[in-house]
Amino acid sequence: MPTGRIDNMQVPLLDLKAQFAPLRGEIQAAIEDVLEAQSFILGPKVEALERAIAAYSGTEHAIGVSSGTDALLVALMALGIGPGDEVVTTPFSFFATAGVIARLGARPVFADIDPATFNIDPAQVQGSITGKTKAIIPVHLFGQCADMDPILAAARKRGIPVVEDAAQSIGAEYGGRRAGSLATMGAFSFFPSKNLGCFGDGGMVTTHDAGLAEKIRALRHHGAKKAYDHRLVGGNFRLDALQAAVLSVKLRYLDRWSDARRENARYYDRRLQEEGLVENGHVRTPSAAYAGSGDENFHVYNQYTLRVEGREALRAHLAASGVGCSIYYPIPLHLQACFVGLGHRAGSFPVSERAAEEALSIPVYPELTVEQREHVVETLVSFYRGRGRTGKTEVVR
Ligand SMILES: *Cc1c(COP(=O)(O)O)cnc(C)c1O
Repeated sequence: MPTGRIDNMQVPLLDLKAQFAPLRGEIQAAIEDVLEAQSFILGPKVEALERAIAAYSGTEHAIGVSSGTDALLVALMALGIGPGDEVVTTPFSFFATAGVIARLGARPVFADIDPATFNIDPAQVQGSITGKTKAIIPVHLFGQCADMDPILAAARKRGIPVVEDAAQSIGAEYGGRRAGSLATMGAFSFFPSKNLGCFGDGGMVTTHDAGLAEKIRALRHHGAKKAYDHRLVGGNFRLDALQAAVLSVKLRYLDRWSDARRENARYYDRRLQEEGLVENGHVRTPSAAYAGSGDENFHVYNQYTLRVEGREALRAHLAASGVGCSIYYPIPLHLQACFVGLGHRAGSFPVSERAAEEALSIPVYPELTVEQREHVVETLVSFYRGRGRTGKTEVVR
């Protein structure tokens, strides 16, 4: 059991109150500006955030939208995706990634993941491309970019656009370039639990392509470039000025938060190794490099996701010790009830299915104290104490 000193310590999976406390004054002032102006739809606050996100991500254009889901949806709409088309993506992601494909009447075609990184496997992507493939959506899962070079090479050969689902990975880097700038378009989410979160729903599309940017600006506003002149059928996918005001303040802190997340991740990597949990095969810590490349990505740890042995009992033990945790994701997308029509079964994407059985995310948020993160480690250690070497979580390639 943990020592008496930290017996009553609580470590939530995420602590937004701890993030808000030091920012309260700045955020209230930014909100007050919007209240003063009484201008709530698009406008200067949204434009300022769009410029800031474009600069931050290293893209020419950024278009504020109503959510990460709508960022993906409008990106696919701008590419003209529709019935009869196929879009290749991962079965191990949040539902929205595949949901937007289905909503447009297109078919999500799944490609299994790399067991070490949880990200889509480029070889599987290549094997999933057909004459009907109209887009590829790699997800930069948990804060780490997908292995983009081979995906982009395969896409370029056939002229297929690539949309990065960067909802969990603002600030992540691959080959020295930031998430959202690596492909045709990038989709960000500002859902409160993302690394840059607003006070509700919000999202952003990034792109280097002026034509696509213009189309998305029209699509988010019912397809009108000028008021009441509708050249396209779009929707109401606009970002609120209030959310943009909050996000512009928070963006100034994002790099510090990413560094703190990375520092917490390094701490867990080291301590779980030291305590023998990795060597004994009880847990596998997240990999920050692609097989063969050895190059470490700049991982921003939206989640610190372990593979664990005995997950159900461990969850109960963590809860009893005041440690928050969550399973991302318990059911892979190809096994979701709404996708039964796609014809997949258990066994169709075994690497994703195994990840769904073993993954467990533990607190890694920036405001975590040194005592809190050590409490998390000690809680894990106390759970596995007395178990011998099992090797159950080792990744078989
Ligand atoms: C959060 C998330 C989304 C959707 O973003 P919302 O803002 O919640 O609509 C899409 N894809 C991934 C991978 C996500 O994590």
